Amino acid sequence: MTDMPQTEAEWREKLSPEQYEVLRQAGTERAFTGKYWNAKSEGTYRCAGCGEELFSSDTKFESGSGWPSFYEALKPERVAESHDRSYGMVRTEVTCANCGGHLGHLFEDGPNPTGLRYCINSASLDLEPAAEPEV
Ligand code: FE
Repeated sequence: MTDMPQTEAEWREKLSPEQYEVLRQAGTERAFTGKYWNAKSEGTYRCAGCGEELFSSDTKFESGSGWPSFYEALKPERVAESHDRSYGMVRTEVTCANCGGHLGHLFEDGPNPTGLRYCINSASLDLEPAAEPEV
C-alpha cells in the first residue's frame, strides 16, 4: 500500500490511541471491552493498521475469553507468528505480515477443524460487513 506509515510518528497520526497501543506497542485491550469480542456480523476482518484482509467471520467462534477469536486466518501467510516471552509466559504472538502490527496471540486449544485459537484484539481489527444479498 502506498500510504503505509514509515515512522512511528506517522503511525500515531493514522491510528487512534487505542489502536496505536495495541498494534504498535503490543498492548492488550481489557477482555470484554473491545468492539468485536461478541460480534456476530458476517464479513471480513481487516488489519486496522494497513487494511489487509486477515480473518473471516466464518471462522469466528465464541471462546469465552472476551476477545474476538478465530480458528483460522484467511490466508496463513498473512498472519506471522513469533515467540513471545513477556510477562513470564511463553506464547505465540501473531502480527500482521503486511505491516507488522501486533494482533494478539495464538493458542492450541481452539475448536475443530484446526484446534487453533487466534485470540485477537478488537483494536487491531476493522470489520468490513459482507455485502447484503441482492433482492
Ligand atoms: Fe497490517
